[in-house]
Amino acid sequence: MNKNVLTEKAKSHLEILCTEIGERRVGSEENRRATAYAKKVLKEAGWQTEATGLPVIDWKTGGATLTCHGKSFEIFSSPYSLGCSVQGDLIAINTVAQLEQTDIKDKIVLLHGEIASRQIAPKNFPFWNPEEDQYIISLLEKGRPKALVCATERNSATAGGVYPFPLFEDGDFDIPSVYMKDTEGAELLAFAGQTMELASESVRIPETAFNVIGRNSNQTKNRIVITAHIDTKIGTPGAIDNGTGVTIILLLAELLKDNFSKHPVELVIFNGEDYYGAPGQIKYMEQNTGKFGDILLNINIDGAGYKEGLSCFSPFNLPANILDTLHEVLWETPEITEGLPWYQGDHSMFLQNGCPAIAVSSGWFIENMECQEITHTPKDNLNIVNYERVSECALGITELIGKL
Ligand SMILES: [Zn+2]
Repeated sequence: MNKNVLTEKAKSHLEILCTEIGERRVGSEENRRATAYAKKVLKEAGWQTEATGLPVIDWKTGGATLTCHGKSFEIFSSPYSLGCSVQGDLIAINTVAQLEQTDIKDKIVLLHGEIASRQIAPKNFPFWNPEEDQYIISLLEKGRPKALVCATERNSATAGGVYPFPLFEDGDFDIPSVYMKDTEGAELLAFAGQTMELASESVRIPETAFNVIGRNSNQTKNRIVITAHIDTKIGTPGAIDNGTGVTIILLLAELLKDNFSKHPVELVIFNGEDYYGAPGQIKYMEQNTGKFGDILLNINIDGAGYKEGLSCFSPFNLPANILDTLHEVLWETPEITEGLPWYQGDHSMFLQNGCPAIAVSSGWFIENMECQEITHTPKDNLNIVNYERVSECALGITELIGKL
């Protein structure tokens, strides 16, 4: 298929995913519309399709308020937190050592400074879970405060472009929490010891989300698994993260349908990469327990198609023949370069299970991961997409698979 035609198709898929549908948080109606659309495209291109239901939590908030003697502070409900309406004395904590030594029972706890400097991993998150984070959570649960107020600064490395960032984003953690800017927290600090009133009108709603899988063969041995997550964070249309990844899979559904590769191909649209429990990834691991050895290669697409710079394919543990083939394709394709390794994506799950992988993304994002202010914000919209980059990635992957 010619590149111009493919680029037009990319634009049309992206307009549906990011403009007509928009935010695709796990558990929402929009998320289900997006997976239904992807399934329809795969099916129409002749792939055997399968949608696997995942029990998840959707979450909504009517806002949050924090007041003390008529003075109010600007706060936000932490995503996936339980709501609350409580009154209690404010106590400020800024280190783990202080948390260990302080009685926080029935208090409203202000977490600020060092202890609030980076996002705390969700309790049951399977892929990244520092012991210190689990320890902080256990201290808080044992301490039984009424609620948490978290004052956070900017931290692109762990929270993308979001400021302030929610310290907790965890539907398995049951202490109600809200968050605020570090500057607002500095003002709140002066109210330590006083009685505060805190209300957060958020609710957890049991819902269903879906993984979508397309296959062009009944063979599973030596298959190539191409993955992209379809979900977004709350509050973003998720164009680069990861409307473009899903779009590349939808283009591949057409480019690869004639099964010209000697290896079976599995197209996997995951639900949950940007969600506290990674339900789609866990489900896929369960479905493939003991069978990851059947996978020849994972190609994971996340962050592709940014308007500035080139696309990049980052190799991980590739056997020599696949690496040589990748180099051949990159040599012939000046718009795609070899990328440095990065691990904040679904290819990590394949690596952890012993599979070689290639991560497809935009060079600009990998280079600016620690300082960019786009990821997980409304700025991640179609204005920052280069549709040609999107079609070039699809053609590059097709080329690679054809040569393997
Ligand atoms: Zn992503």
